[in-house]
Amino acid sequence: HRLAENGGANLATPSPPPSLASGWDNSIDYYIKKQLRVWCRVQNGFWELGKIQSAFGGKASVILLDGTVMTVSTRDLFPTNTEILDGVNNLVELGYLNEPSVLCNIQYRYQRDVIYTMVGPVLLAINPFKDVSVAGNDVIMAYKEKILESPHAYKIADAAYTHMMRDGVNQSIIISGESGAGKSVTAKLVMEYLIEAGKSEMSVKISQTCCILEAFGNAKTSRNKNSSRFGKLVDIHYNSEWIICGAYIHTLLLEKSRISHLCRSERSYHIFYQMCAGAPSDMRDKLNLRMASEYKFLNQSGCLKIHDVDDAQNFKKLMEAMDALQISHEDQERVFKLVASILWLGNISFEVIDHENHVQVVTDEASRSAARLMGCNVKDLMMTLSTNKNQQQAIDVRDALVKFVYTSVFSWIVETINKSLKGESGSRCISILDIYGFESFQKNSFDQLLINYANERLQQHFVRHIFKLEQEEYESEGIEWKKVEFVDNQGCLDLFEKKNMGILSILDEASNTSEATDLTFFNKIKQHLILGFDDEKGSFKVNHYAGEVKYESTGFLEKNRDTLHSDTLQFLSSSCNNFLKTDFDNQTLGTKFKYQLFKMFQMLEKSNPHFIRCIRPNAKQLQGTFDKETVLQQLRCSGILEIIKISKSRYPTRMSHQEFANRFGCLLLSKKSYCQDVLSTSVAVLQQFRVLPEAYQLGYTKIYFRQEQFLVLEKLRKQVM
Ligand code: ADP
Repeated sequence: HRLAENGGANLATPSPPPSLASGWDNSIDYYIKKQLRVWCRVQNGFWELGKIQSAFGGKASVILLDGTVMTVSTRDLFPTNTEILDGVNNLVELGYLNEPSVLCNIQYRYQRDVIYTMVGPVLLAINPFKDVSVAGNDVIMAYKEKILESPHAYKIADAAYTHMMRDGVNQSIIISGESGAGKSVTAKLVMEYLIEAGKSEMSVKISQTCCILEAFGNAKTSRNKNSSRFGKLVDIHYNSEWIICGAYIHTLLLEKSRISHLCRSERSYHIFYQMCAGAPSDMRDKLNLRMASEYKFLNQSGCLKIHDVDDAQNFKKLMEAMDALQISHEDQERVFKLVASILWLGNISFEVIDHENHVQVVTDEASRSAARLMGCNVKDLMMTLSTNKNQQQAIDVRDALVKFVYTSVFSWIVETINKSLKGESGSRCISILDIYGFESFQKNSFDQLLINYANERLQQHFVRHIFKLEQEEYESEGIEWKKVEFVDNQGCLDLFEKKNMGILSILDEASNTSEATDLTFFNKIKQHLILGFDDEKGSFKVNHYAGEVKYESTGFLEKNRDTLHSDTLQFLSSSCNNFLKTDFDNQTLGTKFKYQLFKMFQMLEKSNPHFIRCIRPNAKQLQGTFDKETVLQQLRCSGILEIIKISKSRYPTRMSHQEFANRFGCLLLSKKSYCQDVLSTSVAVLQQFRVLPEAYQLGYTKIYFRQEQFLVLEKLRKQVM
């Protein structure tokens, strides 16, 4: 009885006015008579509240709250939800699904510093750009013990942990959103929960990796003062007691251009500034270290400091973290030497030596320090950089060298962290995916192409799990549901991945042909793909799920080939710093990236996914500013309305008849039905507790439950056990 009552109460929603499924025609009189508020689309494309005064022939006269009277098409009017539903925790609870209601709900919560909202099974997190923190160990424990249930990053982490223990299946938490939307902060909260929930000695180590990876892989960009410039998937391994026994970090392509070229007001990787500000005096001497302002690679952007960030203090923390991970002092010194060598390489100058404008490296403090720190001979360095080269060619060789040195350091760091986090082999794992968000700048190059391609893959994973697989499963199980149309980005993904004629394969073909240039690549794309083009700039447009992006093809081939000059390779092999491995495989960057992505998503496919969508409330990183247009654009790209629709008919808890019978058969009063086949046992359980028919569906092989209904059954089972 109790279950039936609970179930009944849970399913009750306030009864809405007459259905609007067939448009306004049947119900508009009701809205006029009752003077109910409606959303009215105004000239700027947004909506304001008003009341309908009269309607005729598909047009209505509406009076807005400020007294303005407008005549609009009834198609521009949308019903509002009753005030009881203001600021609901889960948008699925909204009686009326329309963009203004969804937007209004999120804004209502945001204005009250409630940044998390559920959209069916997906968590939306709006970046507050200020501390609204409901975080820390007490909060973690409250979620773990289910005392707190409101939407939160911890709640998603808790769901993953609980599912893993309950079903013994690997879980994944997939965090997406544009740059600056709050992904990394959210990923950190998720990690905090997971580390605390399965606490062990290893947890402490895992939490220390964060500051190391941030120092070497994050930088200040125009959109985010602590932006991750690489993608990462962190696997946390649990043993059979669900305690953490190890971890593994997979990384995806670190942005390289930043090391030698900075846009105005951006910074290079934090480590450079941290080291310059915080290195102790003996290290300063060894590295011949100066202030950041004295290095060209750092001072070119006019931005050396970040407001409220103490680089020196962070360097101290970094060294402590490296110690905690048992990175030896010799290895630490090797790392810092290479980091410092990059700064000195940036200060190298060239002088013209003949009529053909060939240059040579000036022998000065910069070239001498750089060579010494790399463990090389200064003459070799000079020869490598400038033999038979003009100034621009010499600079290009130098820049390729520093990028190689930095990425070698980064790879070494990740490899070493992974060695340190390797524990006994785990039983199950929870993976957290946090990759760079979709990017669209005025000028977009190869880096943006790869980042946005990764985001298309991520979006496809999302679409597959939330829409495609869900609906396919309902169909094959014979479950009744209302089909939801959604935007599938498979077409855009094909544009990148198609064999022979995809962007990546056209690029590879050109990259492997020695005579090919950026222009021949551009022409080939033009010949084979239907896109927008601008011949003058050699640019092409791709219609991404998150908007259109124009890519300039200049430099594509060189970046994709990703090789070093043969002189440079020879020079590096002479270095006594063994971090500089030069065993290149013959793959282009695009192909390597594609395989790394494939591998990540292959792993993710085998896990049960939980999704978090981060939203940027405005483009200026301001607190308290909710820019409707910016938010709406992101909600549309995430298919939020469609997620609500599918979630309304969703049965999130499902298990095979066998599992269900095993789990709940013990609750049966009459053991007779328990002894029959599994389906009869399941049906007997449902009958005994008078579970409402709306709360479950029986499929051919599985039983499907509304979440709250299942939880009530679980509670009962726990009482009996
Ligand atoms: P992304 O990884 O999506 O590029 P970040 O997670 O780095 O974005 O967030 C950008 C900035 O926004 C952070 O440096 C922080 O200042 C702020 N921020 C993000 N999430 C939160 C949050 N939950 N609470 C407070 N500030 C936040």
